Amino acid sequence: MKVAFYSSKKYDIDSFGDANGNTGIELNFLESRLEKSTVPLAAGHDAVCIFVNDYCDADVLEGLANLGVKYVALRCAGFNNVDLQAAERLGVEVSRVPAYSPEAVAEFAVGMIMTIVRKYHKAYSRVREGNFLLDGLLGFNLFQKTIGIIGTGKIGLLTGKILAKGFGCNVIAYDLYPSKQADECGIRYVDTLEELLRQSDIVSLHCPLTDGTKYMINDTTLGQMKKGVILINTSRGALIDTAALINALKSGHLGAVGLDVYEKESAYFFADSSAKIIYDDNFARLLSFYNVFVSGHQAFLTVEALKKIADTTLQNLQDRANGKRSPNLVERK
Ligand code: NAD
Repeated sequence: MKVAFYSSKKYDIDSFGDANGNTGIELNFLESRLEKSTVPLAAGHDAVCIFVNDYCDADVLEGLANLGVKYVALRCAGFNNVDLQAAERLGVEVSRVPAYSPEAVAEFAVGMIMTIVRKYHKAYSRVREGNFLLDGLLGFNLFQKTIGIIGTGKIGLLTGKILAKGFGCNVIAYDLYPSKQADECGIRYVDTLEELLRQSDIVSLHCPLTDGTKYMINDTTLGQMKKGVILINTSRGALIDTAALINALKSGHLGAVGLDVYEKESAYFFADSSAKIIYDDNFARLLSFYNVFVSGHQAFLTVEALKKIADTTLQNLQDRANGKRSPNLVERK
C-alpha cells in the first residue's frame, strides 16, 4: 500500500519511521499541505495521510477519487476538516486516531492555566534580561477556584480531574452527554452552559468543532462570563468568535486568554512565519494583548502521543490493505 503523507514534519518522519517496521506500507512524506492544488501529488498512491490543517473538502475529495485514491487516514482525533458527506458520496473511507493521548492535551491545558495565572512566560523573559523585580507578576491560588469544563470527553474529564484532585479546585462541567466517570474525577455537572459561564473563574473548552459548537463563545456567551474570567482553548479555534473575543479583551471584561488553537490558524501554524507579514488583523491584534498567551497547536506534541498516533494510523492503513473494517472509521451521523 502506497500512502501520500501530506504536511509532514521531522517529528512525523521520525515517529512513523520508528513504528513502520514490517507493515509493508510505503509512506511518501510530502511537505505540502493537502489542498486542491496539491491533489495531483497523490497520483499513484492508495491513500492519503493528513493532519489538522489539511483541506479535505468536496473538491479535494473529488480530485482524490478521480485519481483512484479512496482512503483518507487522519493522524489526529478531530475530523472537522473533512467533508464527510462528500466522502460518503464518492465512496472514500476516512479513519482517524480517536484517543492518542488525552494526557498530552489535558496536561498542556493545565500548564497553560498555570502559565497565565502565575506568569511563568513573563518571568522567564524578564529574568533573562537581568530584571528580578516581582512587580506585575502577582498571581492567585487555584485552590478552591471554580473551573468550568465545556465538553467532558477524554480530554475534558482528565483536565477536570487534574484540577479537582491535584489542585483542590471546584470543577463544574457542561456536556450535552454527561459522563458517568465525572463523579469519580471530582467533577460536578451544571444544567446549562449559561450556569457554567456565570459561575466559573476559569473556563476551559474541550468539545469538538461541529456545526452546533462553531462560535459557541460569542458576544452573548462572553457577556455571561464573570468579569476577569480566564478563557482557555486547546480544542479548535472556531469554537470562539475572534471578533467578539477581541471586543471582550478591549473592554477589560476578560481577565486573560490562553489559546493553543485559532480559527484561521492554517495560514500561519506549523510553519516558521517569523519573516512574514501577518495579514490577518484579528490574529495580529490577539498577539498584541499583554494578557493573551498563544501557542501554535502544540498540545498534542509529546513523545507518547506521537507514538500512539503512528501506531494507530498504521494499524488503520493495514486494516484497509487487508480488507478489514477498522474500528476507527469516521462515519457521518
Ligand atoms: P471526545 O469526543 O472524547 O469529547 C468531546 C466531548 O464534547 C463529548 O463528551 C461531547 O459530548 C462533548 N460535546 C459535544 N458537543 C458539545 C456541546 N455543544 N456542548 C458541550 N459539550 C459538547 O473528544 P476529546 O478526545 O476529549 O477531544 C476534545 C477536542 O480536543 C477534540 O475535538 C479536538 O478538537 C481537540 N484536540 C486538540 C488537540 C491539540 O493539540 N490542541 C489535540 C487533540 C484534540
